[in-house]
Amino acid sequence: KNQGRDCHRYFEPVMDESVKRRATIEEELREALASGSGLKVHYQPQVAAAGQPVIGLEALVRWQHPSRGLIAPDQFLPIAEETGLILQLGDMVLRQACAISLRWPDLFVAVNLSQAQFRTPNLAERIIRIVRESGADPCRIELEVTEGVLLGDSLTRDTLKRLRDAGFRIAIDDFGSGHSSLSYLSRYEVDKIKIDRSFVQHLGHRVDRDSAAIVKAITTLGHTIGLTVTAEGVETEEQRRFLATSGCTELQGHLFARALPEDKIASVIKGNRPA
Ligand code: C2E
Ligand code: CA
Ligand code: CA
Ligand code: CA
Repeated sequence: KNQGRDCHRYFEPVMDESVKRRATIEEELREALASGSGLKVHYQPQVAAAGQPVIGLEALVRWQHPSRGLIAPDQFLPIAEETGLILQLGDMVLRQACAISLRWPDLFVAVNLSQAQFRTPNLAERIIRIVRESGADPCRIELEVTEGVLLGDSLTRDTLKRLRDAGFRIAIDDFGSGHSSLSYLSRYEVDKIKIDRSFVQHLGHRVDRDSAAIVKAITTLGHTIGLTVTAEGVETEEQRRFLATSGCTELQGHLFARALPEDKIASVIKGNRPA
């Protein structure tokens, strides 16, 4: 009993700090969403493997914090997901993505949806309404979901079906890194798979044989059932060459461009003209 009390006293202040920190982030995130300042969206170009023109942009959220500087999504998305703020955040990103889509009518714009957003029963209607109000074409908006979403309950799958019926394209993000099950691929619920960066990064100067085999197998599988195959996290010329010869359709990574603020997009897009 004595030992138990000691342990309790030892851990309490530590717990307290992390609980406080999360509460602060939650509070500040709520304010940022309410005021519409601080949170912003950057866009990372995606290129066609053949010839490398820019064909799409992935919307990636950033938080310009007044005292802590630019915060990466991994630092605040988990808290947004736990608190439900992810719904408002997702709306904000989607609205901005629609505006970009209207400005660059030749490009598709990809938006990430986290699994937590699928807990809301009217997610499909919510997304369809925002896109309709913006005047953007759902066919130019791609929704990225992780494997966990596709393995979800019937409500989740119904949401995806309604979105797809409304014209949105569905991409499986981080393909191969999660709870892999190939059964959903055969139900024609998706349009694209994005090979996870962990496989791509091992395609180095001395290509890792396992990663190379996995990338080739995923690409062949994807094409056989009519899906577009994108590789993400492409950083080197060796990786680009391997992926292009393996038959990947699209490439994304620092080799081409990082995620950029809206006003820098034009400078990396060649051969595309804004509306
Ligand atoms: P993700 O969807 O897999 O996005 C790709 C991440 O890899 C981005 O990190 C991007 O900046 C980074 N990246 C791209 N190319 C390279 C490369 O060549 N090398 C390396 N090392 N990294 C590269 P970021 O922006 O920090 O986003 C992290 C994750 O946060 C995203 O992973 C996504 O799951 C999530 N996320 C970002 N924005 C949103 C959003 O608006 N909504 C939701 N639900 N999730 C988001
Ligand atoms: Ca993504
Ligand atoms: Ca990804
Ligand atoms: Ca990810």
